[in-house]
Amino acid sequence: MTNELPKTYDPSATEDKLYKTWEEKGYFNAEVDETKKPFTIVIPPPNVTGQLHMGHAFDETLQDILIRTKRMQGYSALWMPGTDHAGIATQIKVEENLRNEEGLTRYDLGREKFLERVWDWKNQYGNRIIQQLKKLGSSCDWRRERFTMDEGCSKAVKEVFVNLYDKGLIYKGSRIINWCPHCATALSDAEVEYETQPGKLWYIKYDIKDSEESIIVATTRPETFMGDTGVAVNPDDERYQHLIGKKAILPIIGREIPIFADDYVDKEFGTGCVKTTPCHDPNDFEMGQRHNLEQILVFNEDATVNENGGKYQGMDRYECRKAVLADLEAEGRLVKIEDHTHNVGTCYRCGTTVEPMTSAQWFVKMAPLAKEAIRVVEDGEIKFVPERFSKTYIRWMENVHDWCISRQLWWGHRIPAYYCEDCGEMVVAKEDVTVCPKCGSTHIRQEEDVLDTWFSSALWPFSTLGWPEKTKELEYFYPTDTLVTGYDIIFFWVARMIFSGMEHMKQVPFKTVYIHGLVRDEQGRKMSKSLGNGIDPLKVIDQYGADALRFTLATGNSPGNDMRYSKDRVEASRNFCNKIWNASRFIQMNLTIDKVALPKTLTMEDKWILSKYNTLVQDVTTNIDKYELGIAAQKLNDFIWDVFCDWYIEIAKTRLQNKEDKETCENVQNVLCYVLSGSMQLLHPFMPFITETIWLALPHEGETVMLSKWPTYSEELHFEAEEAQMEILMESIRAIRNRRAEMNVPPSKKAQIYVVTENAEHQSVFKEGEACFLKLAYSSALSISDTAPADAAKMVSVVTGDVQMYMPMNELIDFEKEKARLNKEKAKAQKDLSFIEKKLGNPGFLKKAPEQVVEGERTKAAKLKEQIAKLDESLAALD
Ligand SMILES: [Zn+2]
Ligand SMILES: [Zn+2]
Repeated sequence: MTNELPKTYDPSATEDKLYKTWEEKGYFNAEVDETKKPFTIVIPPPNVTGQLHMGHAFDETLQDILIRTKRMQGYSALWMPGTDHAGIATQIKVEENLRNEEGLTRYDLGREKFLERVWDWKNQYGNRIIQQLKKLGSSCDWRRERFTMDEGCSKAVKEVFVNLYDKGLIYKGSRIINWCPHCATALSDAEVEYETQPGKLWYIKYDIKDSEESIIVATTRPETFMGDTGVAVNPDDERYQHLIGKKAILPIIGREIPIFADDYVDKEFGTGCVKTTPCHDPNDFEMGQRHNLEQILVFNEDATVNENGGKYQGMDRYECRKAVLADLEAEGRLVKIEDHTHNVGTCYRCGTTVEPMTSAQWFVKMAPLAKEAIRVVEDGEIKFVPERFSKTYIRWMENVHDWCISRQLWWGHRIPAYYCEDCGEMVVAKEDVTVCPKCGSTHIRQEEDVLDTWFSSALWPFSTLGWPEKTKELEYFYPTDTLVTGYDIIFFWVARMIFSGMEHMKQVPFKTVYIHGLVRDEQGRKMSKSLGNGIDPLKVIDQYGADALRFTLATGNSPGNDMRYSKDRVEASRNFCNKIWNASRFIQMNLTIDKVALPKTLTMEDKWILSKYNTLVQDVTTNIDKYELGIAAQKLNDFIWDVFCDWYIEIAKTRLQNKEDKETCENVQNVLCYVLSGSMQLLHPFMPFITETIWLALPHEGETVMLSKWPTYSEELHFEAEEAQMEILMESIRAIRNRRAEMNVPPSKKAQIYVVTENAEHQSVFKEGEACFLKLAYSSALSISDTAPADAAKMVSVVTGDVQMYMPMNELIDFEKEKARLNKEKAKAQKDLSFIEKKLGNPGFLKKAPEQVVEGERTKAAKLKEQIAKLDESLAALD
């Protein structure tokens, strides 16, 4: 027989050991195998410097459930792991460290030395998140682990960059971009978060050249006025028709700027005159392009005013605002100030207000790429789960701007563009350029900027499988199957993988995008550092085990929706582990068989549990296929706990302990093991550790549950009639138990039960289930008939459906004791009543006491009278 299970389940003593064995035996490995179908998930690569947080734990648990299921279903199931270099996040971390420990900046070290430091950091801490993923039980094929800046992924990045450049889909241009003055880098549209902030609308008076008239513009950003190169009005605005084509004079500076008409201007907003600053506002930039306006940049990279700002040079943008307003005021140009709330873009990393600025950046031309990316989702080649996210995706793709891919950082893929310092030639190439192809000069300088981190993660589904090489893995595992990720990175990541897959592989990168929500705290708040409400998944694993954490994350979750994490829920999962453990241990200790085969003769309750289990197999399989992992988990919990443990094991005990009748005893062992083993298989993807331990402790074939064959629905185990029969039996048992509980009858007091029904079928159900009924209904004897017993009127009766049950009162309660108890209660009530009546009969009390108090006493008296009447009734019933 197999090893006996220890008395209590200790996850900490089990999990690491089991995980090590799984890894050593190569159970997670997926091979190219033409006899099997592939199933592939690429992990959303966590930041290499990151620490496992609840969001990861959630994301990884869902992926592991899917991959473990598919592995058991016979697929060559590959879960491709890896980490992301996370450009800005990592660079900031290393810079902070450098500043705190050595008082240095990255400029003190220089590019090369600084990058050495970042690699050192990566080598030291990069593995931490991988170790943490292992604690969770993640069954990735670790042999294949990748890093977005490893040799292969870097090669893929260069290949893609050069390809797109050659096709004219990457260009360098002066464009308006979102600039974070704090992070000193350009941000893509997706990296800007908008918030409404209270602000002001300032009305400023501009003179008009060669005219007595003036014009009033309204602005929320007076600090950029030195960069104004025009005043725009709506072409239909009658107020300003005669001014179009004239020049306005910028106050303080005195520069002349054209007044022009553009449809973009909203007549109703402010005065209908818009100051136009092409270098510092995206809409003004567009108008500037349309009307050939001059571009005057007035800020430096740190958002201080530059040399174009005249007397304001050197001021920070907020200081500049104050100074400008003071000057305008002094000149009598500030005619009105209004409160105004507006949408302000902020940096998603540091929260600094983003400054729109024109600068030389690299872009991916999106319109041609978006076409295919929209088509594959519209055509259903890629499905979003839940479906509503496909609309979000398509809407975004239809309005997508060119993607700014250059970042003013050092850590990342350096853009493979090379400039000749002598003739100015620019070459974009996969290989390093050392000689200018035009003039032969060797004074070559590579582009300083690196690529947006998402540029490399956009290639993840194929770069990790070996692209641009034509590897057998790429051939076999691509397109991947399911991408699991949060709704917060659909634009950053999912969208970019889709157009990259279509452009470079001509095939979708994955077939299904399974979107999940965020893990929130008990009160529904986002977990965040500033709130201090984050929960460390590793601490939860230490305390409750990885299985309990995983099960908590899997239950109560539905695709696309946020979920709440609470200590109560993880404790409930831990209790579920204990319940499974105790039941399994009980079964295992009573086993005499060493091989499981279903017996030829099955009792009604055997058929019932097998049929229930059979339905569970079908449901869980379907739910997982439909990504309803929370529902699957809940069904497993309900079946194992409520049906199998609370009913079947209880019913089975009598036969299991019947050592004289070997056949009966072994039959029930077989059914118990069959259902328990199968349940452990179904539960395995959710709770890998405890299920493996139990499965191995029961009679089994094979080395591990994780490579066992996934249970399938079997028509032979469908017993509809027996399920219905057991339902009748169970319903009557529940009714009797409830009634006894109401009457405070302890289980030790057994009563005779008269079952009365005219339904012959139901009579035979009770005959068949007599043994189990006697035990579970705490009954001393059962009599089944179609007429009520003679003294039925004096018995306790319970009804369920067409079954009436009677129990003699004297078998449930001790008459004398009960009488004494009722009499004692009655005496106390009478004493209280006479005290109150005395009070109410006292005219002094009635006169002095407030109305409310008197009324209160009267109510009390009425209640006591009622209670006494009831007690009398109960006493009479006992006679
Ligand atoms: Zn920032
Ligand atoms: Zn040259």
